[in-house]
Amino acid sequence: MSERQVVIIGSGPAGLTAALYAARANLKPLVIEGIEAGGQLMLTTMVENWPGYRDGIMGPDLMAELRAQAERFGAEIIQGDVSSVDLSQRPFVVSMGKTAYTAQTLIVATGASAKWLDLGVDKKLSGRGVSTCATCDGFFFKGRPVAVIGGGDTAMEEAIYLSKLATSVTVIHRRDSLRASKVMQDKAMSMSNISFVWNTEVTDIKDLAKGEVTALVLKNTQTGVTSELAVDGVFIGIGHVPNTALFKGQLAMHDNGYLKTHEGSRTSVHGVFAAGDVQDHVYRQAVTAAGSGCMAAIDAERFLSGTLHEAQSIHPPPMTSSPS
Ligand code: NDP
Repeated sequence: MSERQVVIIGSGPAGLTAALYAARANLKPLVIEGIEAGGQLMLTTMVENWPGYRDGIMGPDLMAELRAQAERFGAEIIQGDVSSVDLSQRPFVVSMGKTAYTAQTLIVATGASAKWLDLGVDKKLSGRGVSTCATCDGFFFKGRPVAVIGGGDTAMEEAIYLSKLATSVTVIHRRDSLRASKVMQDKAMSMSNISFVWNTEVTDIKDLAKGEVTALVLKNTQTGVTSELAVDGVFIGIGHVPNTALFKGQLAMHDNGYLKTHEGSRTSVHGVFAAGDVQDHVYRQAVTAAGSGCMAAIDAERFLSGTLHEAQSIHPPPMTSSPS
């Protein structure tokens, strides 16, 4: 087993920024990039709120830059998905199937993934008309009618993107007001081919037998009246779940499954740090993820050099159960 000073799980802005800082501190970090390599920015087009790019930068281009920058200073980035971790003692053990690495410190930057509805049929029709990523799949619906489910910024962003491709975009939201930021609401509402259906839930997606999306079955939450909306595609934009399954029972989590951190990036286990969306259910921005990745690398470096304040081991946060 090859032992590392720092192992980083995840390769979004948090993981790669942690890798950059750890590499520059000569800690030769190992980054295990995960199946969603590059994180959520790989699924976006233009990023306009990353400081330093006044005209914006494409999400995948930004990630390619971050990756190259971390590698330039000696970060080793390997493909693959972690199958299990053992955090019960140091060095920690990080396994990828039959391959295992031991680590003096671990930085968890596994991010969050798009949420699905609880219908079952939505996952079954995934890639056949149901999607959680307009920038990935929107092109297939050029000149066709689509729907977007959700009322937050993700749903608005999906709807705005799709409005440039689809004939019509119907946003279906379970309440009568949006959660999205004002600027995104205004932008979506200004598009002539985006319309809104309020107080409405999707109860079924047709047509599983045909293996394609033909219509949504809708139910008005106020009146109970059901109806059908004919669409060729549906984009689910109802938020995200943190990728914390690997750490259940080992790291303290909030009730919503996000990792608990305190005093910077510290988790409930001494020597394990967390950064990015896996521990942030409030800001969830690329730049805040990168900032927390920097914090995690500095905390790991101080931990290794014995200069990290010891409060953590005296008052670890309580473990709580997390949703499945
Ligand atoms: P949010 O949690 O903000 O919104 C989720 C939306 O989906 C809500 O409107 C919610 O309804 C609805 N919803 C949740 N579960 C269900 C369900 N089972 N069935 C139907 N509807 C459901 O998540 P987002 O991903 O939109 O945003 C997360 C964070 O990321 C926010 O802080 C946001 O600002 C940020 N973000 C910023 C962007 C930008 O600046 N360009 C782009 C995308 C995200 P209800 O309102 O009733 O709870």
